[in-house]
Amino acid sequence: MHEIGALHQAVKMVDQVAKENQVEKVKYITLEIGELTGFLPVFFEKYFPVVAEDFPVVEGAELRMKIVRGQAICTQCETLYNVMRCEGACPKCKSREKKILGGTEFKVVDIGV
Ligand SMILES: [Zn+2]
Repeated sequence: MHEIGALHQAVKMVDQVAKENQVEKVKYITLEIGELTGFLPVFFEKYFPVVAEDFPVVEGAELRMKIVRGQAICTQCETLYNVMRCEGACPKCKSREKKILGGTEFKVVDIGV
């Protein structure tokens, strides 16, 4: 479960940013999670309160998540498709040669204070 490590890093970063800006309490954190990271949002929901316990500034904050679709463009026929839904292969020509356009991100995009 590498979700905990990633989540811990994200919360630590938020904690630092909050402190630098003299924020006493963070209301919510918005995470952007790409489908292709393999991270399961349910784990973030489950472990966020546990991880946040170590950071008083973040403790009690709400966790919001934006899931980014795994999009790719086929380098053989230029078809745009969803990597998860098509299991990594182009639906038109079945090629696995592709350029990933989105879905690999994992980052904090918003901090509510
Ligand atoms: Zn194709």
